[in-house]
Amino acid sequence: MNTRIGIGYDSHRLVEGRRLILGGVDIPFEKGLLGHSDGDALCHAIIDAIIGALGLGDIGRHFPDTDERWKDASSIALLKHTVDLANSSGFDIAWIDAVIMAERPKLAGYSDLMKEAFSRAGISPQIINIKAKTNEGMGFVGRGEGVAVEAVCLLSRTGS
Ligand code: MG
Repeated sequence: MNTRIGIGYDSHRLVEGRRLILGGVDIPFEKGLLGHSDGDALCHAIIDAIIGALGLGDIGRHFPDTDERWKDASSIALLKHTVDLANSSGFDIAWIDAVIMAERPKLAGYSDLMKEAFSRAGISPQIINIKAKTNEGMGFVGRGEGVAVEAVCLLSRTGS
């Protein structure tokens, strides 16, 4: 099969005293995402989408939160490691689409900066689309308790 598709989901709690990092971008806000690494739910959802398309399980298997190597790690570095894994498995990233669900802050203006950060992980801005939306005040996202992200990734076999 020359193409593979994968889906990824992640959510993190918004807490005081943490920086808000999404898509490798430090976003000014009064709260940040709690996590073993930098809590970058966008990177984590994309990582899980790539790993899913590779058929290699999930993010926890590749970056266990018990592993000191990944404590406070930049999720862009984790993403780069995952893109390298896809390439060494014989696949190119063909397309990524993602939706960030956050009531606040407004994130739509950050997508170009996020794309710039993703290029450091080996993902060209031409093959990624990032959307941001609120949850219309409903659920944990709507109450501002956390941020959730869904992502899909299409892989194509190198040279196909
Ligand atoms: Mg996560």
